[in-house]
Formats: sequence, C-alpha cells, structure tokens
Amino acid sequence: MRIRGAVLQESGRQGPWEQTRPLAVTDLDLDGPGPGELRVQLEAAGVCHSDLSVVDGNRPRPVPMLLGHEACGRVAEVGPDVTDVAVGQRVVLYFVPRCDECDACRAGGRMLCTPGWAANGEGTLLSGARRLRWDDRDVHHHCGVSGFATDAVVSRHSVVPVDDDIPPEVGALLGCAVLTGGGAVKNAARIQPGEDVTVVGVGGVGMAAVLVAIACGAGRVTVIDPLPAKRARGLELGAAQALSPDEAADAGHRCGLVVEATGNPKAFEQAVQVTAPGGRTVSVGLAHPAASSSISPLALVSETRSIIGSFLGSGLPATDIPEYADLWRAGKLPVDQLVSSTIDLDAINHAMDELAAGRAMRQVIRF
Ligand SMILES: [Zn+2]
Ligand SMILES: [Zn+2]
Repeated sequence: MRIRGAVLQESGRQGPWEQTRPLAVTDLDLDGPGPGELRVQLEAAGVCHSDLSVVDGNRPRPVPMLLGHEACGRVAEVGPDVTDVAVGQRVVLYFVPRCDECDACRAGGRMLCTPGWAANGEGTLLSGARRLRWDDRDVHHHCGVSGFATDAVVSRHSVVPVDDDIPPEVGALLGCAVLTGGGAVKNAARIQPGEDVTVVGVGGVGMAAVLVAIACGAGRVTVIDPLPAKRARGLELGAAQALSPDEAADAGHRCGLVVEATGNPKAFEQAVQVTAPGGRTVSVGLAHPAASSSISPLALVSETRSIIGSFLGSGLPATDIPEYADLWRAGKLPVDQLVSSTIDLDAINHAMDELAAGRAMRQVIRF
C-alpha cells in the first residue's frame, strides 16, 4: 500500500533543518505484514531526542530510514501467526522488540533482547525484513517502529495493547518518554517512598522521570537544567527546586537518587557529582559512541556509590506500559502535561530545529 512518511535521506546534514530538509515527507510503499507482524494505522507519534540524534549524526544509523520510535495507533491488519491481537485494538509501540526467547529476554527485563537489538542496528524488523520502499530503494526501519508515517508494519513483539480510553498522544509518550524516564526511577533505581530525587536534564524523558517519581511517592524532587524555561516547567510539574548546572555546583547540591537524561558527558559527570555518598546515579541519556566521561574511582568505592545504565526502562514494556496507563487513568501521572505542541507530519524538519534549540519538550505528530 501507499503510505506517507518522513524518510531521513542523510545523517549529519547541517541545520537549520527546516531549510536543508534532511527528512523527506513523501509517499512510499509499505508491504503487508509477514508472519508474526501486524500493520498499525498510526494516530500519534512523539518527536524524541533519539530521533534528533539520528538526524544530526550523533547516533549513526543506516539511511534512508523512516524515523520515529514513540508512537500509538490501531491495529489495521494482522499477519499470519498473530492470534492475540485483533484488528481495531489500540496499541503502544516500543523501541526495542522483545523476542521473549533469547537468553537476554529470559533474564526478565534488565537486558535488551539480543536479536531485537541487532535488528535495530540493521534497520530491519525483528524478522530481518524491510517492508518499506521508496522509488524502488529499500528503506530502513527505525527501532522496529518507524512511526513518522500514516501506517507502520511492525513485529507483534514491538507493541503493547492498551485500552481505548488512553488518548493517542498519551499512548505514544508511554512508549518512550515515560517507559525510559519512569523505568529509570521505578525499575533501575527502585525508588523508595519518600526518597528525594534529582533529575539532570528535563526534556521529555527527564520530565517523565519527574512525573513518575512523584507518582511513586518521591520526597523532594530537584531538576537541574541550563534552560530557564525547562526549570520553570519542572517547578510547574511538581519539582520542589530547580537549579542551573552552575547553581547546583555552587550550592554543593547532593541527592541519594539522581537520574541523568541528557546524553551529554559533562551532564553525566555532574549527575555523578551531585549523587550523595551511598546513593545511585541512573543514566538514560544516549551519548555519542565516541564520548567519554571522567569520574573518580576512589569516590565510587569509598562513598559506596552505584552508577546504573538503563535502557527501555530496565523492565518489561508489556507490564510497565499498562501500569503507567493505570497511573494516568487514576490521575497520578499527567503524561498529557509533557506534550508541548501537536504538529503535522509536514512540520517534522522544523520540529527537529525546535527540539535541538530546547524550545520544545514533546512535539506530537497527529495523523
Ligand atoms: Zn525516544
Ligand atoms: Zn529476545
């Protein structure tokens, strides 16, 4: 079938991208679902920093690639062997498929699926297939999702069913921002009720960590961000304190549970610095493959600290996403507050400029 989608033609092109247009919004061909796959008619897709990192070259990926990895829609067609999801079901897509059979999947959620991770690197679905073509060229899938399009064919192992009352833009954010930021607090750090939390970098993922920390009964929440508008938004969403990186350093800020959500090696170092002795630093930011940070091994040992890396929420999307949906339904997790604007697919290059400039928390494409 013909779909409309945003295809990245070249990674690392200079901005402003609204002018240089690395993403072509175009008609292209989508094959039907193969065994174990389904087609989702997309309703909403969030523009995440990990999409931007592919555009600006910080996260090298094969091109052409149809971007977008945070999305929600309704099942429109099921392939052979899909028996537990029906046409019409609303689903949240998530960005590393889980085969449920490899050793990593059997470890219960802490590890990423080995074939799922390999497929993401190759730009294919979990099956190894590419279902997208543009002018007879194969187009790569992004994270098994490729959600910046009217329709997507994905593995059954890339979706979690949700109830109809979950609005599409909320559903989309559950699949990356909330899964990632929330999982850092809930699964990787195993937050205790009343525990203070500091979040370094409050874009969509960092702010989701703030919301989930509060939903989990956190004590005092502090946000650290260089941008005044993001600090102000953090206070509006329930943080007790908002500091610039310099203010945090000057004040000697310390906290027992620190989440870093920037991908910036300097911010990672600061996250470790502001972690109190005995505390844990959870990093979810995706740094450039060549980036490195400097930390004190002596402080790590003598202050009995933990540094924890977390991806895909350090848990199982199939159980975490319904939990977050329940919290939203109960009014405890205002995911809607993370949406800074809703946009058309045609505005995707402009949206990347807005995200890079720090002017947008979560822009959501509605289809
Ligand atoms: Zn993301
Ligand atoms: Zn697996």
